[in-house]
Amino acid sequence: MKISRIESILLKNAPGRIFEDAQHPFGTGTEELYLRVHTDEGVTGHASIGFGVGLHGARAVREIIDRQCAPLLLGQDPFQPRACRERLAAELEYAGIEGLAHFAMTGLDTALWDIMARALGVPGWRLLGACRDRLPTYAMVGWYYPEDDELHLDGYQRAIEAALADGYAGVKIKVGRGSLDEDVRRIELAQALVGEGPVMVDANQVLSRNEALRRGLVYEELGVAWFEEPLRPHDKPGYAWLCQQLALPVAAGENEYGKYHVYELLTAGGCDILQPDRRRTAGPSEWMEIAGLAAAMHVPIASHGGDLATVHLLMATPTAIWCETGGVPKGPGATVERTRIENGWVYAPEAPGFGLELREESIARRAI
Ligand SMILES: [Mg+2]
Repeated sequence: MKISRIESILLKNAPGRIFEDAQHPFGTGTEELYLRVHTDEGVTGHASIGFGVGLHGARAVREIIDRQCAPLLLGQDPFQPRACRERLAAELEYAGIEGLAHFAMTGLDTALWDIMARALGVPGWRLLGACRDRLPTYAMVGWYYPEDDELHLDGYQRAIEAALADGYAGVKIKVGRGSLDEDVRRIELAQALVGEGPVMVDANQVLSRNEALRRGLVYEELGVAWFEEPLRPHDKPGYAWLCQQLALPVAAGENEYGKYHVYELLTAGGCDILQPDRRRTAGPSEWMEIAGLAAAMHVPIASHGGDLATVHLLMATPTAIWCETGGVPKGPGATVERTRIENGWVYAPEAPGFGLELREESIARRAI
C-alpha cells in the first residue's frame, strides 16, 4: 500500500459562549485543520488538528504539511508510520521541531494509524495493544464564566450541576486567576456539589513557585485530588521542587512536545500524574513511546483532552487512570462516530480506525 494523496482542509469554528482559564479566553472562534490521507488501495486515513485558542495556527500547520511534509510521504508505505515520522522529523528539525511542526507530525502520524486500523478492520485501541475497554472520565467544567465574579458563582455552579446530571462522578475546575480565598470558595462549592467524587484543580501555568506552594498546601488540606499545571512547563526544576513539598499529587505534561520533553519532566521527578496531549505527542507512534516511559517509571497518565483518538490511545496506555472530557456530547457533533460516556466511564469505540472522520455536513458548513 502506498500513500497517493494528502488532502488538507481548513475549517472555521464560529465564536460561541466565552469561558476562561487563568490565562486564556476560549470560545472566541478558532480554525481547525482536517486531513485525509489517501492510498492507492482506496483506504483513507483521517485526522484533525484543533487549537483551543489562537485563530491562525491551523493555517500555518497546513502550509507545513502541504509544502514540506506531503512531498516526503507520497509513495511511502502507511504501514511504516515510524519510518515516515523519522523522515518528517529530519525535514522539520532545522526550522524547529516543536510547536506547530509537532502538530503537523501528529496529524499525519494519526492519519497513517487510521489507515492501518481501517485496512485491518479493527478499532485503533485494539491495533495498539489494549489494556482495557473502558476508563473513568471526569468533566472539565469549572471555568471562569463572564456572568460570575469573585463572590457570585452561578454560571460555575450550573456547569458543575449539568456535568453531574450527565453522570460524571468528578470534575476539574480552574483556579489561580484570582485570590486564594476565591480559589477556596470555588473548591468548596464544587466539593459540596460533587459529594464523594474527586475535584481536581488546574492553574494553567500562572503561579510562581512560592505561590504554588502556598496555594497547594491549602488545596491539599481541602482534599483536592490533584493540582494541575501550577508552573510554566519549562520550569522542570520548579515542578520537581513542588512535588517534593506537597503530598497533593502534581499533574503536568499537556504542553510538552514529544517524548524528549516528557523524558526530561519524568526524570526530573516533575509530576506525580503525567498528562499528555495527543496533539503535541507527534501522533500515536510517539504517544505509545511516552506511555512506555511512564509505565517504566510507574507514573499514572491522565489525558489532556478526550477526543475519540485520545480515547483509543488511553485504552492501550498501561498506566492510564483518567480520561478528561468536556461533557457528554449533545446533538450530532462534528465526527461520524460519537463518544460513549455513561455513569462516569468512557468506553472504547468499536468502529475501525481512530474516530476522527468528520461528517460531510460538518465539513461543508465550516470549510473556508
Ligand atoms: Mg490543564
